[in-house]
Amino acid sequence: MIDFHCHLDLLRNLEETLQFIDKAGMYVLSVTTTPKAWPGTKRLAGSNPRIKTAIGLHPQIAHERSNELPLLEMILPETRYVGEVGLDGSKESKGTFVGQQKIFESILQMTSKSGDKILSIHSRQAEEAVLDLLKKHPSSGRPVLHWFSGNQFSLKFAVELGCWFSINEAMLRSKKGLALISAMPNDRIVTESDAPFMKVRGASAYPSIIPRAIQSLSRLWRIPVSHTDQILRNNFKQLVTS
Ligand code: MN
Repeated sequence: MIDFHCHLDLLRNLEETLQFIDKAGMYVLSVTTTPKAWPGTKRLAGSNPRIKTAIGLHPQIAHERSNELPLLEMILPETRYVGEVGLDGSKESKGTFVGQQKIFESILQMTSKSGDKILSIHSRQAEEAVLDLLKKHPSSGRPVLHWFSGNQFSLKFAVELGCWFSINEAMLRSKKGLALISAMPNDRIVTESDAPFMKVRGASAYPSIIPRAIQSLSRLWRIPVSHTDQILRNNFKQLVTS
C-alpha cells in the first residue's frame, strides 16, 4: 500500500499511525510545508526505510517564508523528494499569487540542477499556471499532481506533460473526482491520504484510509481489489525507480 502525500508532522495520533504504517508495510511520502520543518519531520520516520521525507514549501504560506528558500536549497541534496510545493489560486491565496509563482519557479530551477527529483505538487485553482511552469522547466523532475481538481482540459495538458497523479478517497467520493480519475492513465496513478487535511464524513483522514481508497478505485476500474492493488504497486515502483 502507498500513501504518496501525508503530513505526518501534523497528525494527532502519530504513535498509532506510525505503528499502523509499519505493520501494513506501507510506503509513505511524508511531505513538509516549510523547509524549517524538515529535520524534525524526517526524525519522525525513525528507522522505517519505507517512509521518505520530502522537502517542501506550501504555496499558501510560501509568501511569508521566502527567506527559507536558501534552506530548502541546502537540504535538497539530502532527499530525492520535494513537496508540498506548487500554486494555490483559491480566494484566500489569490492576493499572493505573483509571489507564489516566483517562489515555485525558483524551486523548479533548483530541482532542475539535480534532475532526478520527484515532486508532490499542489495545484488547486491554479492548474494551468502550475502546468505552464512545469512545461517551462522540463528538467525539474517528475511531477506528481496531488489531489488534482482541475477541469478535463487541464488534465489532458497534464497527461501530455507526463505528470503523475496521487489520488484520494475524497476524490473517489465525488462525481467530479471520479470523472477525472477515469480520464487519468491507469499506469500513472498512486494513492494518497493527504492526512490530516482530507476529511471523510467530517473527520480527518489517516493513512489507514488507503485500503478504502483502493476498494473505491477497484469499483471505478471494475476489477478486483487485488488486481487494483497490484497495478498501484507496479505504478509506485515505476514512479520511484525509473
Ligand atoms: Mn497536503
